Amino acid sequence: MAQKQIDIVSEIMGLDSNIRRYLKRVERSLIVSIPIMMDDGKLQIFEGYRVHHCTVRGPGKGGIRYSPEVNLDEVKALATWMTWKCSLLNLPLGGAKGGVCVDPRKLSKNELERLTRRYTSEIINIIGPDIDIPAPDVNTNAQVMAWIMDTYSMNKGRPVPGVVTGKPIEIGGSVGRESATGRGMFYVLEALCNKLNYDLKSMNIIIQGFGNVGGWIADILYTYGSKILAVSDITGGIYSENGLDIKELLEWRNQGKFLRDFQKTNYKHIGNDEFFSIKCDVLIPAALENQITKVNADQINCKIVLEGANGPTTPEADKILHSKSIYVVPDILANAGGVCVSYFEYIQDIHSYFWDLDRVNKELKKIIVNAFENVFTISKEKNLPLREAAYIIALSRVAKAVEFRGFFP
Ligand code: NAD
Repeated sequence: MAQKQIDIVSEIMGLDSNIRRYLKRVERSLIVSIPIMMDDGKLQIFEGYRVHHCTVRGPGKGGIRYSPEVNLDEVKALATWMTWKCSLLNLPLGGAKGGVCVDPRKLSKNELERLTRRYTSEIINIIGPDIDIPAPDVNTNAQVMAWIMDTYSMNKGRPVPGVVTGKPIEIGGSVGRESATGRGMFYVLEALCNKLNYDLKSMNIIIQGFGNVGGWIADILYTYGSKILAVSDITGGIYSENGLDIKELLEWRNQGKFLRDFQKTNYKHIGNDEFFSIKCDVLIPAALENQITKVNADQINCKIVLEGANGPTTPEADKILHSKSIYVVPDILANAGGVCVSYFEYIQDIHSYFWDLDRVNKELKKIIVNAFENVFTISKEKNLPLREAAYIIALSRVAKAVEFRGFFP
């Protein structure tokens, strides 16, 4: 999918074929073995990855994912999308990503810590504030980042907070980082609604995924006054035509409980397969990639798809949505608030000077709305979907940097 997108946009842009071939490859991939002595005394060996797609514009940046589905190809695609995301926001960073093939729910806290520390030790030579700065992604969080920061710092013999972002505030994290992806999505959605003369407050929203991204955007939109008709997690969805009480559902989730077990009068449980057919104004996929496909795209009945997850829409589904005049706000724009505030965290760590929430949110809004304006303008000028417009901007910047630097030696 990531490579197909490069081909589609390269054709439209008439991109030099050498640069196109170069950008379809990743700079480096590291595959590591992670042997962990489990609590029961048995050794288990996990596989981990860290990939740098392109560091031509700056050090690599990208999350670390813990999931049984993680594989090298997935991490390569995610690293590629990070390159475009950083470029689209004009951050001086490149694209990277990491992952460990593990189901963290089956590990005790001690096992998870050992896994994280061993994984960090295995990738230590290709991460660092000047090389590649990891962050949280699916199933990783501030605690995991703290273990990475500590392992790296112990090895270097000095505190190095700038090695990861998404850390706890107490050890150099930024205020507003946890909510940043959701907040950025809100700013982009608000800006698009302004362009289209839609009243965001009166819109009906459905959200797939109720983790960091899905939970925050649900909370922000609910607090703003929009109606959240349905949310889902890995166990299924929950729906109410009168709108859900998101605060109550977040409380439930924060106790480690799943949506399938939540009961309330007038709330209906729905399977993940029927979720996308709910009629709404805004559909927000915020779970995993490859969720909107040619199989279910036809059932989608909304005005806007706001991509919270990375790569949730396949190119075939994209065409179907476009033919139905649905605006698809691409992941590299919609969910870029996370990497943007990660960049702020990195700057704050380097300067050892920390901002307040007001400044973080203001700077985020400025950068992400500016990126949105650029994308919207190109999309109108060239009569292209928002994704293609976003890719044109992102790829052009990277291609120019490659041209200036040339191919070493
Ligand atoms: P998370 O682990 O906090 O949450 C994932 C959610 O998706 C969970 O509620 C899980 O139950 C649900 N889920 C998993 N499979 C599902 C399925 N088949 N149907 C419905 N729900 C399902 O992860 P996250 O950090 O919220 O990331 C979600 C997506 O957003 C990923 O694609 C990630 O790469 C992307 N993303 C995350 C950030 C960030 O700051 N965390 C930033 C940009 C993009």
